Amino acid sequence: MVQEQLTARHRGIAHPEVIAAMRQVPREIFVPDACQLEAYSDRPLSIGHGQTISQPFIVAYMTESILSPSIHRVLEIGTGSGYQTAVLAEIVQEVFTVEIVQALARAARARLDQLGYTNIRFREGNGYEGWPGEDSFDAIMLTCAPPFVPERILKQLGRRGRLVLPAGTERQRLLRITRVGDGFHREELLPVRFVPMLDEPGEP
Ligand code: SAH
Repeated sequence: MVQEQLTARHRGIAHPEVIAAMRQVPREIFVPDACQLEAYSDRPLSIGHGQTISQPFIVAYMTESILSPSIHRVLEIGTGSGYQTAVLAEIVQEVFTVEIVQALARAARARLDQLGYTNIRFREGNGYEGWPGEDSFDAIMLTCAPPFVPERILKQLGRRGRLVLPAGTERQRLLRITRVGDGFHREELLPVRFVPMLDEPGEP
């Protein structure tokens, strides 16, 4: 997976910490029993509740896109299977992760506890609120697509903090938004397809 899907020239993942984390995290633990044979295939897979575990390349790419020498606290919105959470927890000091579908949140937490991660904080709830009571995150990652960049989440970004998210409905783009002084610098990274960010639990 690492050689063919991540570090191959057409893919270009190069950051040693990202490569080490992708080698370390056992993806099969995060994939349902029915798709075990495809655990390391080059695509997203269904995890039930209409949701998916992202393609390995996208996980590595998004992780690489937020890295900086001063990244310690990261907020992830859309825990899903917990796979991206684990990759982040391999690299940074503390990961805060929010999931709106209760069953997914609980299963991910059990899995990550069992794997021995002690640097992850979990919340069940609506990620449009970010993480109430916390701010100044070094990076924020959304793994579900809102139609627009949520203002409340932007506010929880620290100085020089980076937000990476898929935004849009029909045509989604992976965006990276960096806080620069009082403003924001916005970059379009890739065309992508993510599940939509839900407003309430139970929406399709
Ligand atoms: N990073 C995950 C990807 C999961 S798909 C993985 O690798 O497995 C996106 C997830 O975002 C889904 O689990 C979905 O339930 C969740 N989600 C959708 N809307 C949300 C919201 N408003 N707040 C928090 N999580 C949300």
